[in-house]
Amino acid sequence: MTLKGHCLCGDTRWEAEGPMLWACHCHCADCRRQCAAPVVTFLGVRSSGFRWTGATPGAYASSPGVTRHFCSRCGTPVAFQAERYAGEIHLYAAGLESPEAFTPRFHVHHAEKLPWIALDDALPRYEGFAPADAPEIGEAS
Ligand SMILES: [Zn+2]
Ligand SMILES: [Zn+2]
Repeated sequence: MTLKGHCLCGDTRWEAEGPMLWACHCHCADCRRQCAAPVVTFLGVRSSGFRWTGATPGAYASSPGVTRHFCSRCGTPVAFQAERYAGEIHLYAAGLESPEAFTPRFHVHHAEKLPWIALDDALPRYEGFAPADAPEIGEAS
C-alpha cells in the first residue's frame, strides 16, 4: 500500500509505504496551534518507507526532540517527527490524496480536548499519550 499526500499549493509532496502504524485524532494544544485546527488527525508510518517527492519542506523544532515540517511556500503543516517515536514519521490525514479513505482508530491527549468540539464516535479515548500496548496501534489498515 502506497500512501500519498501533498500540501495546499502542491509543492510539498510525499509518499509512504504502509502499513499505517497510527491512525488517530490528537487533541494536544501544540498540534492544535500549529495546524490552527481544533483537532488534528494523524497517520504514522515507518520513516524507512517514507520519502519527500516534491519540494523539501521547512522544519520547526516546536519542543526538544520534536520537529514539525511545513510547506515552505504555502505553510501547510505536512509532518511531525519526535525522538519519542524514533523510526516513524507522522503525517496529517487531511493532507492525504484521498482523506475519505482514511479511518481514525482512537483519540490521544483527550484531556486537552476543546469543550466546544463534540465528536460522537465510539473510538477509544486516551487522556494523554496512547499506551504502548494499545490494541489500536500498529499495522492498521
Ligand atoms: Zn505548499
Ligand atoms: Zn498533538
